[in-house]
Amino acid sequence: MLNEQRTGDFFVFDKRINYQTKDYNGLIKNNGVLEMENTTRIKEMTWFEYARRTDDWFILPVGAVEQHGPHLPLYVDTILAEEFAERIAEQVHGVVAPALSYGYKSKPFSGGGPLFPGTIDLSGRTLQYIIEDILEEAVRDGFKKILIFSAHFENEAFIAEAMDICSRRFGDTVQILLMNWWDPMSPTLIDEVFDTIPFPGWALEHAAVTETSLMMYFAPAMVRAEQIVQRSNAVPEICYKYPIDRNSIPKDGCLASAQSSSAEKGRKIVEDVIRNITDYLKKLDI
Ligand SMILES: [Zn+2]
Repeated sequence: MLNEQRTGDFFVFDKRINYQTKDYNGLIKNNGVLEMENTTRIKEMTWFEYARRTDDWFILPVGAVEQHGPHLPLYVDTILAEEFAERIAEQVHGVVAPALSYGYKSKPFSGGGPLFPGTIDLSGRTLQYIIEDILEEAVRDGFKKILIFSAHFENEAFIAEAMDICSRRFGDTVQILLMNWWDPMSPTLIDEVFDTIPFPGWALEHAAVTETSLMMYFAPAMVRAEQIVQRSNAVPEICYKYPIDRNSIPKDGCLASAQSSSAEKGRKIVEDVIRNITDYLKKLDI
């Protein structure tokens, strides 16, 4: 399928790959010809295609494997990180690295904590070292603009630590950014999304309206909508306390209500966040 000629020391590849039988992730363009040049996903590229993209943003999605109540799957944070990352890449000339699917330890009052079956956590040092290794590799490959997109709140301090340590090594020639999807949300949209129930604050927005709406938009088949019930918000302790008291956390793992979630709200969040992030990245002089 791949047309290849050897010329001198180089392989020259035909950029258009005939891929007539499969529709692979919607990439088929004209007459069943897959234009691999258009993919933003590193996992779909050859190394030749990857090596031509080093002037682009290298975007690393980072998620978690964490309980999200009775109505959402364990993989929510990774799905959200990948979906946002791919939309950013389409807007700003980016390539999306395979997601880091595990994250730092869930905290009781932002993710339910580590005691739920299916919450599979990394230690802080493991996460920091993995991020450092991936940053080193991307920079060694020639990337100078790196965006880490984390959809799991608890990851942030350890990712920032890895960024700081690597940045001291790389110097001014490499820019490394860390983003999520909640900080860039326009305040007016937060008011609009919480039209029915009051905004409980971002820490308690776990498996609640925003994450549920985003999943209804990105992956509706994975949402068990009939499991969404009326509930009151979790009441956080005023301190971190170990060993963790399992009885202080709602039994089903939801920290606030997911009622009033909808795919339409998810769509609005995605469009707003992508617009705000894209504007920010395009204004950066790098
Ligand atoms: Zn989550």
